[in-house]
Amino acid sequence: MKKLLLGCIADDFTGATDLANNLVRSGMRVVQTIGVPAHPLDAEVDAVVVSLKSRTIAPAAAARQSVEALAWLRAQGAQQIYFKYCSTFDSTPTGNIGPVTDALMDALGTDFTIATPAFPDAGRTVFKGYLFVGDVLLHESGMQDHPLTPMTDACLTRVLQPQTRHKVGLIDYTVVAQGEAAIRARIAALRADGVGIAVVDAISNADLQRLGPALSDMPLVTAGSGVAIGLPANFGIAPNPAASALPAAQGLKAIISGSCSRATNTQVAAFLQSGRPALALDPLSLVDGDDTVIETVLAWAIPALAQGPVLIYSTANPDDLKRVQLELGVQQAGERVEQALARIAQGLVRAGVRQLVVAGGETSGAVVQALGMEQLQIGAQIDPGVPWCAARCAVAGDLMHIALKSGNFGTPDFFAKAFDRIT
Ligand code: ADP
Repeated sequence: MKKLLLGCIADDFTGATDLANNLVRSGMRVVQTIGVPAHPLDAEVDAVVVSLKSRTIAPAAAARQSVEALAWLRAQGAQQIYFKYCSTFDSTPTGNIGPVTDALMDALGTDFTIATPAFPDAGRTVFKGYLFVGDVLLHESGMQDHPLTPMTDACLTRVLQPQTRHKVGLIDYTVVAQGEAAIRARIAALRADGVGIAVVDAISNADLQRLGPALSDMPLVTAGSGVAIGLPANFGIAPNPAASALPAAQGLKAIISGSCSRATNTQVAAFLQSGRPALALDPLSLVDGDDTVIETVLAWAIPALAQGPVLIYSTANPDDLKRVQLELGVQQAGERVEQALARIAQGLVRAGVRQLVVAGGETSGAVVQALGMEQLQIGAQIDPGVPWCAARCAVAGDLMHIALKSGNFGTPDFFAKAFDRIT
């Protein structure tokens, strides 16, 4: 089997899909794994993205899991390693971007890497080391109020320095604009000055394309998903439709939506308006240890599958959501709904569903786990950040297609569009 070119470690599930999607669009064939696989890779691909859930866990645990992922990727022959984090550089003064980078540098025996969350297509740009989200600085973007990783400083060198024992430096825009030779010269100068991690400016895709060649011999790259667009060319790979080719889709179609984000509410409303079969799941009707509601939902859904895609949703507007959360508690409501939707997904797959769209990041995690999927082969994107995937499914005992939509992604007609795109 051909050796893996790029081995990637992502600190969360939907971030991993985002990176995989960018690599596929740049011509690489990509598999995303759920956690560190227990077995060797069984697909012929150019890149693997191992998705962890390490963004906000204890720094030592994040470092340990990342090094485990690294060991697996190296065992598959990965020639370069990519540590992927959020494009808003989500972290606290104790990590986990710095500690994971340090641990990976140690394990790889390298003394230099870059760090840049720049992803111009998503409005994330870095200028003079300051991260912009759209038109405003990071700490004015709403991220200053994030419940787990409040970002109160847009200066990335200042944010990163307390998280790492390496000296942090900057490759600024004036250097990036000059291209590969200037970037390499700047890297040599920073190294001579004892710098171990360089934040890199990029305000356009052209900057990322200029940066790519200068990273060709760097054992470790750390970044958001943006830098990925400049790397496949280093391996002689150009964008091509074959990279996103999946086996032909077959079987019945369904949508499970556990996202209450604004975009998903609009998508559910559009689906209801089209008059297609849909059923709302009432979280207050769910009782732990009692499957009556799940059985009722499946008894309605299974005969309706013959009419085309069926939607089962707990998606609610902010007022209804708050009412349920007040009654059950935020955590309890979330878990109860996720588990119910995951069980419903199992029932639908047992009834022959082989094309499934799931809306919601946490919901996707619960569904993928319940269906026993370990590796997703990444196909063409439906909307930015949301590709169709093919995966061996333990519950189906077969290959099936699945699309995992994080809350705010997708146009209002996303659900209908997803099934149009796959045929
Ligand atoms: P998103 O990607 O939009 O954030 P997630 O699936 O990550 O979606 O998160 C939505 C959370 O809200 C999940 O834990 C889900 O179980 C929960 N949830 C969904 N519908 C309801 C509801 N009607 N009432 C209470 N909680 C809900």
